[in-house]
This record gives sequence, C-alpha cells and structure tokens, in this order.
Amino acid sequence: MNQATPNPTYVSIHGGHSGEFCSHAIDSLEDIVKAYIRKGFAWVGITEHMPPATDAFVYPDERAAGLDAGQLYDRFAVYMNTARELKARFAGELDIYVGFETEFTSRALPFTRQLIDKFNPDYFVGSLHHVDDISFDFSQEDYLRAVDALGGYDNLYERYFDLQYELIDALNPAVVGHFDLIRLYDEHYRARLEKPGIALKIDRNLALVAERGLILDFNLAALSKGMDEPYISAGILEKAKELGIAVVPGDDSHSVDSVGRHMEKGIELLKGMGFNTAWKRPA
Ligand SMILES: [Zn+2]
Ligand SMILES: [Zn+2]
Repeated sequence: MNQATPNPTYVSIHGGHSGEFCSHAIDSLEDIVKAYIRKGFAWVGITEHMPPATDAFVYPDERAAGLDAGQLYDRFAVYMNTARELKARFAGELDIYVGFETEFTSRALPFTRQLIDKFNPDYFVGSLHHVDDISFDFSQEDYLRAVDALGGYDNLYERYFDLQYELIDALNPAVVGHFDLIRLYDEHYRARLEKPGIALKIDRNLALVAERGLILDFNLAALSKGMDEPYISAGILEKAKELGIAVVPGDDSHSVDSVGRHMEKGIELLKGMGFNTAWKRPA
C-alpha cells in the first residue's frame, strides 16, 4: 500500500535509469518506480538512454557485457514496453511519462527520428555525451581525450554548444538534458563559461530553448559527483530565468538509492532564484 507522504513539489524530469536496461545503473525499473511512489513524487519522467546509432558507439561497460548495437536496440524495445506497463499499473499512485534520453553522434539524428516514429515516447530528453563522436562523460580519461582531440578546453566547450544547438534545432526535444554537462571534470568551468566565445553560444542556445518553449533539466546528479552545484550552473540559470525558460528538477536516478537524491536542495535553489515550483510537465 502507498504509505507515502505526498511531496507535491517532488518531480523528476529526467530519471529512472535502471540496471535492467542500462549497463551503468542498478536495480529493476519496477523497484525504481516504487521508490518514486514511496518518496511521494507527484510525477516522474522515465528516460532511459537510447541505444547507440552504430556499433562504434557501444560503451565499454556494454561491450564488456557482450552487447552490440543490435542487442541494445532490442533491450530498448523491451524497456519501452516495460515502462508503459509500469505507467499503466501504477497510474493511481504516480504519473509516469515514458521517454528516453538521446545521444548525439554520427548517424544519431536519423536514428533518433526512427526511434521516435517506432516507439512514440511521451517525450524525450535531448542530451549530448559525445563531441565529434568522442565520448566525454564516461570517464575522466575520456574527457581528457576529448580536450586533446578538440585542441583544448575552450574549443571543446564551443563545439559542445554548437552541437547542442544542432540537436535542439533538429529534434526539438521537450527537455534539454544537463545543459552544461561539458563542464564535468573542469575545475575552472565558472570562468570558462563566461568567456565571450563560449558565453555567446550559451546565449544563442538559451534563446532557441526560450523561443521553442522547451524545458531545461536541473540535473541533480552533479551533486553526487562531488560538484557544488547542479547542472545548470548559477550563471546560466540566471540567464534562463530572465528569458522565462521553465527549469525543472531531474534526479537522473540510476538506482533505487539515487531516487530523489538532493531533491530538497535542488528545489530550494530554484525557489530561491524565483523559479515557478508548479513545475512544467514534459507532455
Ligand atoms: Zn546513465
Ligand atoms: Zn545524460
């Protein structure tokens, strides 16, 4: 039975990665959904990672598990069905939106469009974890490889924000995931985000988000990675606020334990900046 105390401001626009359908998560999707119910969430978007466009983008942990792009596609199809079943089964206790999180690599645009046509998700989160086909968030080693390949941190940031613009423009995701993820592993990110060449691209991307009426994911997972503020960092949040962009908490949960982690802090931060806590829903 549902003994949860409802927390009407508890929502996650980006959550529910599970060990059942993601090689770097743990726990079953059902147990994760039950954790959201237990913690009194009003609604949650379940947004598992999409499969890779080609075998070249199979992650090391997936490769170690013996999975190729074809098998990951099949796992994703099972995920979409399972998420829909859970949505129907728990409809009286929690509003679930069934979605997925994108990748942006070579071939990803047509492939993502095929996934949308075939699986008809409630929405999807537009995220990048690669720059010019180099993965940058899987490990610090990968990140440094991307810095080298792009010719330095500034170039890496600029290219990331250019690709992000392309992704948003082409796919119009209801939600943009962890807007400034590219700052991960860069201790000088605050100063870098303010450099004119980078700031201009951020402003351009935010203007597109505002014009299209999209939502920004206020991604609390950063706090679990030892950072002192979520993605999006405060300077960018202020700009989003000025543009009237909806910003909504996402716990980016990858286990039962990480469901709702740092939610209180995230809500307080957004409230303190004057964001509307009657959170905009993704669909
Ligand atoms: Zn993940
Ligand atoms: Zn992500």
